[in-house]
Amino acid sequence: EEDAQYLVSLIRTVPGFPKKDVMFRDFIPVLADQRGLSIMMKALELALPVSVDSFDYVAGLEARGFLIGVPLAAQLGKGFLAVRKAGKLPPETLNQSYSLEYGEATVEIEKDAVKPGDRVLVVDDLMATGGTAKASADLISKAGGEVVGFSFVMELIGLSGRSDFEDSPISSLVTMP
Ligand code: 5GP
Repeated sequence: EEDAQYLVSLIRTVPGFPKKDVMFRDFIPVLADQRGLSIMMKALELALPVSVDSFDYVAGLEARGFLIGVPLAAQLGKGFLAVRKAGKLPPETLNQSYSLEYGEATVEIEKDAVKPGDRVLVVDDLMATGGTAKASADLISKAGGEVVGFSFVMELIGLSGRSDFEDSPISSLVTMP
């Protein structure tokens, strides 16, 4: 409980970034704090939405998802898969587009990054609408992988991001408006 409060105290809120009326939640200060980083990594493991035996890989979403995905994978004895933003990878890639509030975005993986039957936990710093995580899961499924669940550090409530995921197991450490 004290640890949870400490973690929350390190999250920086920036009103009006990257555009007006958005409350930007920044977890980067957690990484800089020795105690905060340790609390966060242990909490991610304790809060796993599925058993640790039920997946082979942790997939992190560029870029902040890499910052927690790699240490979490190492801590759990798993491999790490990088889900990239469009245009960063040489061919051949698999991709999945999704809609944003204004326009579209695309996520990509290397064509052979996921093998059929690979079981994957998807992680990111924050879930807002859930669109990015959903597109990443669809991409992994397209490659033949099985997404077993999702772990986030922060979850914005009020956008009903979870409604996109039906019965998928999801965990988040901190919920915020
Ligand atoms: P979603 O697709 O769920 O609407 O948005 C989540 C994605 O956008 C994540 O990759 C996340 O890193 C980024 N994002 C959206 N809002 C915020 C925010 O307030 N803070 C941070 N750090 N990332 C955000």
